[in-house]
Amino acid sequence: MKYISTRGGMQPQPFSDILLEGLATDGGLAIAQQYPQISAETLKQWRQLSYAELAFEILSLYIDDIPAADLRALTQAAYNPDLYVGEAMVPVKPLQGDMALLGLSQGPTLAFKDMAMQFLGQVFEYVLEKRDSRINILGATSGDTGSAAEYALRGKKRVNVFMLSPYGRMSAFQRAQMYSLQDDNIHNIAVKGVFDDCQDIVKQLGSDLDFKQSMQLGAVNSINWARIAAQVVYYFWGWLRATDSENQKVSFTVPSGNFGNILAGHIARQMGLPIQRLVLATNENNVLEEFFRTGIYRPRSAEKTYATSSPSMDISRASNFERFVFDLVGRDATKLKALWAQLADQGYFDLSDLLPVLQEQYGFVAGQSDHADRLNTIAQTYKATGVLIDPHTADGVKVAAEYLEQGIPMLVLETALPAKFSETIEEAMGEPAPVPEHLQHLNDLPQRVLVMDADVAQIRAYMEQNV
Ligand SMILES: *Cc1c(COP(=O)(O)O)cnc(C)c1O
Repeated sequence: MKYISTRGGMQPQPFSDILLEGLATDGGLAIAQQYPQISAETLKQWRQLSYAELAFEILSLYIDDIPAADLRALTQAAYNPDLYVGEAMVPVKPLQGDMALLGLSQGPTLAFKDMAMQFLGQVFEYVLEKRDSRINILGATSGDTGSAAEYALRGKKRVNVFMLSPYGRMSAFQRAQMYSLQDDNIHNIAVKGVFDDCQDIVKQLGSDLDFKQSMQLGAVNSINWARIAAQVVYYFWGWLRATDSENQKVSFTVPSGNFGNILAGHIARQMGLPIQRLVLATNENNVLEEFFRTGIYRPRSAEKTYATSSPSMDISRASNFERFVFDLVGRDATKLKALWAQLADQGYFDLSDLLPVLQEQYGFVAGQSDHADRLNTIAQTYKATGVLIDPHTADGVKVAAEYLEQGIPMLVLETALPAKFSETIEEAMGEPAPVPEHLQHLNDLPQRVLVMDADVAQIRAYMEQNV
């Protein structure tokens, strides 16, 4: 398996060569040269596999430059059931009728990002060891991504993590989760500013090519291909749990922000997994919902990106969307480049002539939800089923209900557990979300965090002294 760029300007490369990179050399995104096809017979054989075994089978189709025995060990380590709470690592939790949750948030940070990040941590360490190389991850986070990355990379040899977070702007739970890590290779820096200030510092340091090279700077953001590939696994897992025959279809609803999660669903469907619909759910930041409804893609400015009660979906420029559009335009890199040039020039592009293709050939539909919907969905779901859901998952459940079809299981991806976003749970339910037992003492643990001004020079100096 080789990887090409969506912009057409990269020689095909094996997995390990694209693993540590952010953008492809031509500014595009790396994508598999073709999608491996899975037969009904293979699906049947996969029914008895554990999650780790299934992950090995699927990832080995995308990673052929790591020996099978080693890749198996990496998947066993990433998907060791001891790292995940509950009896089933990825349970299917029935709601009402044909609707159920796919429980992706049982990992160390209680959000679905653990599912991919745990594998990324393993494969990073492995490839760096093989190449006798090191990497310094610099990132900015307002919550979920940073903590998932830190829990996946803590204690890893050859990796340092420098994670900028906005001082005083994360929830007490999120702070305790990140700042209680005492590993020497994890550096939490609370920046006196907002998330955008953190992001700007990361961009400034990353665009300084000398610094980038001398520091062996890397990222673990959502365009990382290994994360996408690892996410493909749970669509297969969910389908296998929700069906008992190979011709049965399942629909998935995905609370979406950067289009990473649902892109993996698209890839699973292209691989032949019998998926009826991919239902994209947004919050008030509905740029993607608008695209799938009208065919027009019009990202918004930072000022028009609202802060909502499903904050991990407050995104207006979905970084992975380019990979899907590449498939949509028939993998024509020239066409794709023209669309992105138009985006830069005019702020939008119009693919409304492809609307029927989006729905019929690719199975995509979309819907949106707002704060009142979330509160209502959280309360109603609890009342009807006894299951407490987080605000992001609530966006999904709300939209999923609009696309239910008789006899077709609808799996809503549970992207976080409610304990992470307890303020909104309290608003909906009148009381805070229960904290899983093993995390009840999190708030009492000592915290290790450096508070700094939003000053690039200061942060650069700290990094240079601490690698
Ligand atoms: C990251 C995240 C999302 C959005 O996922 P994308 O892959 O960016 O579309 C949704 N919900 C939660 C809780 C998240 O952390």
